[in-house]
Amino acid sequence: MEMISIDTADRWYQALLEKDENYEGVFFVGVKSTGIFCRPGCPARKPKRSNTSFFQTAKEAMAHGFRPCKRCHPLTNRSETPPWINSLIREVEGNPDQRITDAELERRNLSPLKLRRWFKQNRGMTFHAFQRSLALQNAQQNLLKGAKISSVAYNHGYNSLSGFTDAYKRSTGTSPSSSKPCIYTHQLSTPLGPMIAGMYDQKLVMLEFKSDQRVEKQMLRIGNQLKAASIEGPGHLFQDVREQLDLYFQGLSNSFDLPLLMVGSAFQQKVWNALLEIPAGTTQSYEEIARHIKHTRAVRAVGTANGANALAIVIPCHRVIGKNGKLTGYAGGLARKEWLLKHEEKAFRSVKNLLKVDKS
Ligand SMILES: [Zn+2]
Repeated sequence: MEMISIDTADRWYQALLEKDENYEGVFFVGVKSTGIFCRPGCPARKPKRSNTSFFQTAKEAMAHGFRPCKRCHPLTNRSETPPWINSLIREVEGNPDQRITDAELERRNLSPLKLRRWFKQNRGMTFHAFQRSLALQNAQQNLLKGAKISSVAYNHGYNSLSGFTDAYKRSTGTSPSSSKPCIYTHQLSTPLGPMIAGMYDQKLVMLEFKSDQRVEKQMLRIGNQLKAASIEGPGHLFQDVREQLDLYFQGLSNSFDLPLLMVGSAFQQKVWNALLEIPAGTTQSYEEIARHIKHTRAVRAVGTANGANALAIVIPCHRVIGKNGKLTGYAGGLARKEWLLKHEEKAFRSVKNLLKVDKS
């Protein structure tokens, strides 16, 4: 077990008081007066500094005799999808035009209430909204392929064209007749807190930590550049992103096999492509990247491009540090950057590409 310095503990206590989501997964806090341990963002009243003990894992807190809090459930791995929910998601994704109602769930002895709660917490929408959105996305794809609006509406179970048009506008931001691809955004859970992924034309265009205030800004920038509206909705690609992120966080794979669309200037794309070549478990300086792309004097511009990366983790901008070894900045918060680098050093440094992700 690693010793936690007083400085770190002070920083974590401050994060605890502020319920700072950037520290989700970074530490757990034991409260000596109650014998309970919590996540950083627990809604319960905050303990006095003198009553706290800090741990890096829930296991360590347990080993010190603390019991898990009943409000923030520090033992539940938020990146884990319960198997019964996973199979429901797969079922809907496999057949988006079929609707699974609450009555149907009850017939299968599944709890609509539990499902609703889990979806709200982990996907930011209800299960029924998830289903509606997938169905309309499927309709959109058929329209883009040239299908007639009336037949698409009918195939999606709408008796009236206006009912279909209304639902379609609500879900895609455009009308069926002027249909064009839009950016779908979807919330994913990770041990470091929720992330928002964006998909355009079946490619990943964004992956950012939700607590990061940049999400809206990035969405706006990418939307403007692609001239596309963004709406909340699921998609097949997100399941791949989720699975590959899970393997990464479990330390089982450091490679991502996902279709990426890097939205940015030619220079930014050069920098981002260079970042993809930094092996997990290692770091590079801004100077090294500048040299690598043969813009030796553009160190500052490299730093800016690095910070503008919209595909966190997948394009590993966290592996770029200052020349003196200082971590410098990270859009998702320095605590996350530190956590990611430590995780990669532990999991991937000696073994290269443990598990190649196979999409088939
Ligand atoms: Zn708690």
